[in-house]
Amino acid sequence: MLRTYTCGELTINHINQQVTLCGWVQKNRKLGGMLFIDLRDRYGITQLVFNSESNAELCKTAEHFGREWVIQAKGVVAERYNKNKNIPTGDIEILVDEVTVLNKSEVPPFTIEDESDGGDELRMKYRYLDLRRNPVKNNLVFRHNLGIELRNYMSNIGFLEIETPFLIKSTPEGARDFIVPSRMNQGEFYALPQSPQTFKQLLMISGYDRYFQIVRCFRDEDLRADRQPEFTQIDCEMSFVEQEDVLQTFEGLIKYILKKVKNVEIESIPRITFDDAMRLYGCDKPDIRFEMQFVELNDRLKHREFPVFNNAELVVGIVAKECANYTRKQLDALTDFVKRPQIGAGGLVYVLCQQDGTFKSSIDKFYDQEDLKAVAEKCNAEAGDLILIMSGEIEKVRKQLCELRLEMGKQLGLRKAGEYKPLWVIDFPLLEWDEETQRYYAKHHPFTSPKPEHITLLDTDPGAVNANAYDLVINGTEIGGGSIRIFNKELQQKMFSVLGFTPEEAQHQFGFLLNAFQYGCPPHGGIAFGFDRLCAILCDSESIRDFIAFPKNNSGRDTMLDAPSVVAQAQLDELGIKSI
Ligand code: ASP
Repeated sequence: MLRTYTCGELTINHINQQVTLCGWVQKNRKLGGMLFIDLRDRYGITQLVFNSESNAELCKTAEHFGREWVIQAKGVVAERYNKNKNIPTGDIEILVDEVTVLNKSEVPPFTIEDESDGGDELRMKYRYLDLRRNPVKNNLVFRHNLGIELRNYMSNIGFLEIETPFLIKSTPEGARDFIVPSRMNQGEFYALPQSPQTFKQLLMISGYDRYFQIVRCFRDEDLRADRQPEFTQIDCEMSFVEQEDVLQTFEGLIKYILKKVKNVEIESIPRITFDDAMRLYGCDKPDIRFEMQFVELNDRLKHREFPVFNNAELVVGIVAKECANYTRKQLDALTDFVKRPQIGAGGLVYVLCQQDGTFKSSIDKFYDQEDLKAVAEKCNAEAGDLILIMSGEIEKVRKQLCELRLEMGKQLGLRKAGEYKPLWVIDFPLLEWDEETQRYYAKHHPFTSPKPEHITLLDTDPGAVNANAYDLVINGTEIGGGSIRIFNKELQQKMFSVLGFTPEEAQHQFGFLLNAFQYGCPPHGGIAFGFDRLCAILCDSESIRDFIAFPKNNSGRDTMLDAPSVVAQAQLDELGIKSI
């Protein structure tokens, strides 16, 4: 070894020991006759001292070491005169008597500090330098530790980690596939897995009744905020289970993880149906760290001459506790917030429940005090509260009010960092109607089982069929989703036909699975969690990128590699692909 210790482990207990350290020069500063170098590696920072009186030549050499040079230093551990309480090695320093430059460095394009002066783009281009910074490094360490905990837990309850291939045939998860041309089968293509869905189902048929895998998945989606074209799932499947068994099993996992990595104890994970989530929170992934549930007000507000409400499908409100003292300016800002193009609401109605028991509202012209009192009663609003009301088409207005609810939650400090509120959302619809293409799509994926009691509805009213599907949401972010699967060939064929596949198309694309169903397929179900996202949520981070060593940017580019890039014509020729 070129070193005897790392830069993070020497303490007062090592005083007088002769040691050798290696690392990067973080800082180099001269103070009178002394030269100090902060030497950094993955484990920490140790102060090196060069004394110009006792060793002038060595001091002179070290003076020229620039930032990020890689050096090896030998010397004796000494107690520090000026102790630094902020770092574990702050009690000691190394009195260097020999130093070797292992490699020089260009001046880095940004400072390797916790608060770097480098912008996002620059740091991505030089990601290998960005990775030297503590915040990024800590995230990767966290990810590693979480991975170990996950594997231990899963393994302890009998799950086997089994790898599945990356070069496969398309598996629909609702996104576009990345495809890979085959040289040996020209004109034909593999697809990269959007998830190992069909493989894990095949593994159930093979009898591996508890499978999991921490696995990369690939989806060619238009990158909305905080998505990556390749990301990692904790993919799981079990045989001989019903929905309740899956929920219980993974509730155990989530509780374990929260306790282990966050020291947060939760009793049980509450459940809400999809319909209730939409009705009470306007979305299928509610943040339940705070209440502020929707109250539907059609029956209280459609009886006067106010066309905006009378023409609306839904009039719905939320209560912001103790906000009746909001100023005109604050209320206008909220109105502007919902009118932003991203939200697109026509306006916002407010009712201030004043301390004296009277009401003041933006619709005083149309509604009297009795009307407003009735609204406040329905909302359970008290004196001092503010009621915010929106109206419009059901789906749209729910989405808009959901945004406002989250914004109010944020403004009022109700979405607390460090608080974790997981939630199961269950009873999803099986299908989703798409106006544009005038057909149904699978809400989860085509292998999800309808609720047995709804199967007959597949012929008469497919839109009303509910699925044995569930999502796990933490603090308003979807962390995982899964379902009980179809395990019967006829029902699977029926599902494909509802989704618009001809029998031939279904056989062509999914023949392998339909055939396998004929050889003793056990009832099964599972779930997959977003690993990157789970890391981000547990660290209260906005972005999954922070937990991926080499992420891509918002246009799916790796700016460090400059990928994707063109390839040589010769390479295309080999694949039988004509150049564009
Ligand atoms: N394969 C699904 C997904 O990626 C998860 C599952 O159904 O287990 O969303």
